Amino acid sequence: MLVDYHIHTKMCGHAQGEMEEYVQAALHKGFTEIGFSDHLPMYFRPLEERDPTITMKEEELPLYIERVKGLRRDYPQISIKLGIEADYVPGKEQILKEFLDQYSFDYVLGSIHFLDGWGFDDTRFLEVYQRWDMEELYQCYFKVLQGAAKSGLFDILAHPDLIKKFNYRPDKSLTELYEKTARIIKAGDLCIELNTAGLRYPAAEIYPAAEFLEICQNYKIPISLGSDAHRPVEVGADFDYGLKLIKEIGYREMAIFDRRQRKLAPLP
Ligand code: ZN
Ligand code: FE
Ligand code: FE
Ligand code: ZN
Repeated sequence: MLVDYHIHTKMCGHAQGEMEEYVQAALHKGFTEIGFSDHLPMYFRPLEERDPTITMKEEELPLYIERVKGLRRDYPQISIKLGIEADYVPGKEQILKEFLDQYSFDYVLGSIHFLDGWGFDDTRFLEVYQRWDMEELYQCYFKVLQGAAKSGLFDILAHPDLIKKFNYRPDKSLTELYEKTARIIKAGDLCIELNTAGLRYPAAEIYPAAEFLEICQNYKIPISLGSDAHRPVEVGADFDYGLKLIKEIGYREMAIFDRRQRKLAPLP
């Protein structure tokens, strides 16, 4: 089984290519199961403050779901899951829960792209890094990640150390922060995502860092696989490298989902 659970669509306003092209790319690369996981509308902001280059509009969500279901009918030779990538924003848990409860997703990726409203993974707002002490920034990011793990809203924590995307890093060791976070992820019974997109950005490293992965493996936290494809050619990008890495760390299985029920399957 070869699986990619983190695939976007151009509905989000910053990805390219037709959904069919993502499916065809997956078939071409030998995938047996994929999941679309486009960005959930920005439920945590008032309508007039939502950015159309970050997510689809709220009224487009049923269309996204219909399209995934349509592709399932058109491509019976590959399993196509209905996922979603939802932002975690402290204090907005109830709104998110009500939103997610309306639909029957196969899995929900929990992501942190905003800290106190700052889109830290967005090249338009890079100057804000200058105002932060890196140790404090990482503490702050991981605190929110821990909140996501405790919220009970998510199945998978996507790109768990996205804060390193532009390669701003603290000098101090992150081991303690990784340990504490892993314990909370385990207690919340979540998966972490091996996300190859970090290799395509200045961090030039998979999400999460190998040290964090090792700690997660020690805690027997399941892992799911995602490319975070925003273009059809990125489906399964760098999976050879990612699979080799997690096997070296000791992973033998990956998490797969159906209607938010998790199962483990052997790694390819
Ligand atoms: Zn995106
Ligand atoms: Fe993301
Ligand atoms: Fe994504
Ligand atoms: Zn993502």
